[in-house]
Amino acid sequence: MLAVGMIKGETGVHSFELPVPEIRQPDEVLIRIKEVGLDGTDFNIVRYGLEDIAEDRNEIVLGHEGVGVVEAVGSAVKSVAPGDIVAMTVRRGCGKCQPCLHNQSDMCMTGLFTERGIHKVDGLLTEFVVDQEQYIVKVPPELKRLAVLLEPLSIVEKGVEQIRIIQSRLPWFCAHPNHGWLSEQWGGCKVALVVGAGALGLLAVALLRLAKVYTYVADIVSEDHIKVHLVKDMGALYIDARTKTSEEIVEFCCTPTGELNMIFEASGAADTAIRLIPFMSRSSIYAMTGIPRGDLTIELEAAELVRRIVRYNQVIVGSVNSNRRHFEMALGHIGKINERFHSMINEIITRRLPLRDYQRAFTPGEPQHIKTVIEVEPWS
Ligand SMILES: [Zn+2]
Ligand SMILES: [Zn+2]
Repeated sequence: MLAVGMIKGETGVHSFELPVPEIRQPDEVLIRIKEVGLDGTDFNIVRYGLEDIAEDRNEIVLGHEGVGVVEAVGSAVKSVAPGDIVAMTVRRGCGKCQPCLHNQSDMCMTGLFTERGIHKVDGLLTEFVVDQEQYIVKVPPELKRLAVLLEPLSIVEKGVEQIRIIQSRLPWFCAHPNHGWLSEQWGGCKVALVVGAGALGLLAVALLRLAKVYTYVADIVSEDHIKVHLVKDMGALYIDARTKTSEEIVEFCCTPTGELNMIFEASGAADTAIRLIPFMSRSSIYAMTGIPRGDLTIELEAAELVRRIVRYNQVIVGSVNSNRRHFEMALGHIGKINERFHSMINEIITRRLPLRDYQRAFTPGEPQHIKTVIEVEPWS
């Protein structure tokens, strides 16, 4: 079968042939891949030569945002059957720490995990994969055309969940008991800033707007960009970060209530990410999900920064990867997002290419481009 990834000692992305994998354990599932989304991690691996290939292998298949159809199942598999549509989580646990032993490998304590298409284990840019049942999430047939976005949405689900769990330290947030951070209508009376309007940022806006959070989005594109159109379509406000300082951005976000309650960083732009910290509001939380590449040194007024973090009860939290539960949360929201912000889901995928066009898929898109999806086998 055809596979696309990186080869040891070679630069750029390549195609190669691999044998079709077989079920060898009772808990394994053979999946025929349908669609695979590409994101910044994939592009960075290729662009900066960051491939992480297992010692006994000469290549790694890339791709970690995928949806497929079950082809066959091992004797012990109960939750899926041939013909079912499925998505797969990314990280495979270390098998040693308690989080991993409880399918929470996104919080692995040893760092000995692997990741499909990123870290040691083959990804999804191919025709068939075999995976363990515990890492497979069944997708209702009516959601199959949205399912390629489940993985990025699961990342957002985890980030927002972290925010809500941590901020439940503030049960008396506003005068409305139903606006508590863990309640159903938690978004009421709250203001958020999403940094970065790429696919992840846009999905964060969708999730926040679904909860009725008053949402601002900062990016570095002009008002006529499709990203801005989508931001506005979801009832969020756009800020061109090129025209404002970090202080002015936060000040602008504080217009409705005087406070910016949460920041969701989804750009991976280290400079912007760090420079927002000194202007965080009281008791606010800052979740970082973007991973910057390269090195950057900046000067900050450290004493004032630490003073504010302490005096204002601020929280800065990192959030990486996601587990099966976040995929299930994403399944519960993706249909609603599609219904409510119809153009968003349709327009976020700006380029669809077959697997054999992988070279083109890994080159930058048009200026109005957001997300590339590889159609390994288009839905009928
Ligand atoms: Zn672990
Ligand atoms: Zn309220």
